[in-house]
Amino acid sequence: MDVVESEICIYCRQPGYSREHNPPASLGGNCVLSCVCTQCNKTLSAIDQGLAENSPVAVSKAAFTPPAAFCTHVGGEASTVDQFGLTLGVRVGNEMKTHVRPQFFLDGNSLKARTADRDGISELIAHIDKQISEGKLADTYIEVNAEFRVPRFLMHRSTESYVSASSIEDAEHLLRVLQAQWPDIRNNLLTCEEVKVETRQPSVLMKLTMRPNDEFRGVAKIAFEAAALLCGPQFVLRPTFDPIREYIMGDVRLPPIDPANPEALAIDARFVRRIVDCPVKFTDQHGVLLIAGAAGILGLVILYGEHCYSVTLAPRQDGEPWMRCYEFSYTKDGHHEIDQLDFARRALERFPEQLKIAKENIPYLLNIIQKNKAGR
Ligand SMILES: [Zn+2]
Repeated sequence: MDVVESEICIYCRQPGYSREHNPPASLGGNCVLSCVCTQCNKTLSAIDQGLAENSPVAVSKAAFTPPAAFCTHVGGEASTVDQFGLTLGVRVGNEMKTHVRPQFFLDGNSLKARTADRDGISELIAHIDKQISEGKLADTYIEVNAEFRVPRFLMHRSTESYVSASSIEDAEHLLRVLQAQWPDIRNNLLTCEEVKVETRQPSVLMKLTMRPNDEFRGVAKIAFEAAALLCGPQFVLRPTFDPIREYIMGDVRLPPIDPANPEALAIDARFVRRIVDCPVKFTDQHGVLLIAGAAGILGLVILYGEHCYSVTLAPRQDGEPWMRCYEFSYTKDGHHEIDQLDFARRALERFPEQLKIAKENIPYLLNIIQKNKAGR
């Protein structure tokens, strides 16, 4: 069900609707907002990907997402070695399950296929049929890497592929063999028996590319959209939200190089910061806490109950301070606002030491909060 609707987009203020997931569907978010236009939804999906696949969050995503939740995989590159010594490209999915990507290896003048199952073979056939019919096979992206003495043609996503080889010549040779022998190879693939691939090493080598600026923009987007969800689209359309809106849309300002620390990553930390020891971990799922007070409108974003970030959403506001809190499940179990009593209960139960409250006094305190709430 769509929970927020708006005539105009909360990013570009143009009319138009699309189904925007918050947090992104790639993190299991199933709260749908209809206040983002199709164009912004599409443009901003790159930062969603940066957060879900190219940040430390990617590892939690693969480790904790149950198989029944959205099919998700870690980005970057992962590989393992099979019983024939071939380095197989693998996808790392839910609960760190590995899945062999559809791929070919060039052995002399013949091609060997490796896939996880029959679906992988079908995927490979459909993709190469399409590339050949459109005359695009020879234009396949080539990655030169000394590790790949055996040239490899690998499906990267269901519609994209690339070749890894130790030289351009080897890669081009593989593409020529594939093109010339395709009718025979295709036929063999359709009729071949499945051979179970065993990995010689019980380990997977993962190479993740980190994109901290996209990660931070993705986090800002989650907090910003949670504000639209909790306070309405008109609230975040106020001009005081323009700086964070522009930041999410791409106004990233990298700091100048510090001569004392020239190796440091250039990160725009104007709005988002990572919190190492978060004092208010109110959820084991995804959650956003919004606090409006003297310091402005601040967001605390928690992902997988583990990764915590603070987000400065807007400058100081007039009026009474307030707090709202929202929890999003990453297992398709839904999403809901956490009421203040529940929030207080979670805070009291989890952080009695920080709050300097004896555990035995917690029921008494909760009772008082409950009574105050009822009497309001
Ligand atoms: Zn828009």
